[in-house]
Amino acid sequence: MEWLKTHRNDVILIAVLVALGGALMLWLGLTRQTGGVARVQIDGETVMELPLSQDARVELGEPGRGNLLIIEDGTARVERADCPDQVCVRQGAVRYNGESIVCLPHKLIVSIEGGGSNGVDGSTG
Ligand SMILES: [Zn+2]
Repeated sequence: MEWLKTHRNDVILIAVLVALGGALMLWLGLTRQTGGVARVQIDGETVMELPLSQDARVELGEPGRGNLLIIEDGTARVERADCPDQVCVRQGAVRYNGESIVCLPHKLIVSIEGGGSNGVDGSTG
């Protein structure tokens, strides 16, 4: 009887560990799904990384030579820019891994990294 009791405790312990492991994997899976970030590079240097899951308005550069970066609904876009060509503004919103917004006059690159890598590999078309 004593052996059986100990054995039963082991089973319960293993069950708890499995449940915890499952919860951890589920949590990791959920966070990975929303884990995309907008990496902001100016003149080749990464100045910040913004999670797409969190809305934000960020003034980049300096007055008269800047870009207004908007993070909204899981997308990133340049809403306003002081550059002459306005290419970065016209590029619109990006959200998928590998997409980027480039502002050549300001040497600004906003690239999407991580997140959405599962099942959206067909975005090359
Ligand atoms: Zn621009």
